[in-house]
Amino acid sequence: MIPDNIFRSLAIQTESKLILIVMDGIGGLPVRGKTELEAAKTPNLDRLAYQSICGLIDPISYGITPGSGPSHLALFGYDPFRFEIGRGVMEALGIGLKLTEEDLTARGNFATIDENEIIVDRRAGRISTEKNQEICQFLQNEIREVDGIRVSIYPGKEHRFVIVFQGEGLKDNLIDADPQKDGKKAKGTESLTAEAQRTAEIVNAYLKKATEALKLFHPANTILLRGFSKIPNIPSMFERFKLKPAAIATYPMYRGLARLVGMDVLETGETLRDEVETLKNNFNRYDFFYIHFKKTDSAGEDGDFKKKVKAIEEIDRILPSILKLKPDVLVVTGDHSTPAVLKSHSWHPNPILLHSKYIRPDRIRRFTERQCQKGQLGRFPAVEIIPLMLANGLKLKKFGA
Ligand code: ZN
Repeated sequence: MIPDNIFRSLAIQTESKLILIVMDGIGGLPVRGKTELEAAKTPNLDRLAYQSICGLIDPISYGITPGSGPSHLALFGYDPFRFEIGRGVMEALGIGLKLTEEDLTARGNFATIDENEIIVDRRAGRISTEKNQEICQFLQNEIREVDGIRVSIYPGKEHRFVIVFQGEGLKDNLIDADPQKDGKKAKGTESLTAEAQRTAEIVNAYLKKATEALKLFHPANTILLRGFSKIPNIPSMFERFKLKPAAIATYPMYRGLARLVGMDVLETGETLRDEVETLKNNFNRYDFFYIHFKKTDSAGEDGDFKKKVKAIEEIDRILPSILKLKPDVLVVTGDHSTPAVLKSHSWHPNPILLHSKYIRPDRIRRFTERQCQKGQLGRFPAVEIIPLMLANGLKLKKFGA
């Protein structure tokens, strides 16, 4: 990983255009001998791989299964161990909230306590989403602020919600206000540092008020909060890499992650075609594009091998319309593997191809995990992709005299 100050001194702005295509959860595992990529018919990706340099990337590090947050930060060129994104923030981004440095976020549950404040059900009998919305609305009207700190509550599914405390001086060094187990007392939060003391008091004052207000809503008669977090202080892609970046993604979480590193998030439609159309329409306005395709991951999470194969083929079919734009540097890869056999994210490395004018192509026949492994890029951490893209776009000066 190149240190921040070196990046800042080497990066230059040029006219060249870079595109990073992320097929979410692309890496797979074999079923009857073939991975999803190997089973898919991908003539366009294969042709491109033939003209590119290829390899395998580890999303974070050997053996680490990443969530979407850290794996995307790495793809954007940020060390995911240095810039951690808390659970509250991820959840808030997932529902499309635009967070500022003043916001303290947390994930929440409605829960049931008895008369001695012992938690008897951490999920409040899994109340319906409609009921959740109704209670959140009620709480929002009932408690708008605590000690000058604004409080906003956003319903999620069933008993879950996201809460945002907004005001000056809030800190996130707090322990979960959630004992994680039934049969324990709901005790509120505690500060882990002296400077977070006031924040802990505000959160606990809110919890007390909320529990009082919720008396009528049994079984949802209290709330539990966890994953207190603020957005990390991240230098923008412009500050660091002198890039003018834009993001094209349909899901709120990826749009939010892109915003965290200073990308302009473009409005786009639901389909792959819509996303490519958005790319075309904005191609003159930026010099870096992150384009995200979600379907591969969703199919993997469903454990649906065939559906993932189809999603890959669908991406393959729209690839020519991206190539027509003639980007100076094009990278196709994934943020992590989501093998259908595991029905979840995994630690396996992902194939990557990089195409530009200034390469010695590997002449690899297929864009698959096992073929890309033979390429000259070898196996490397995802966080090194951006420097490679910048270099191929002639956007990095010489290091040293
Ligand atoms: Zn992902």
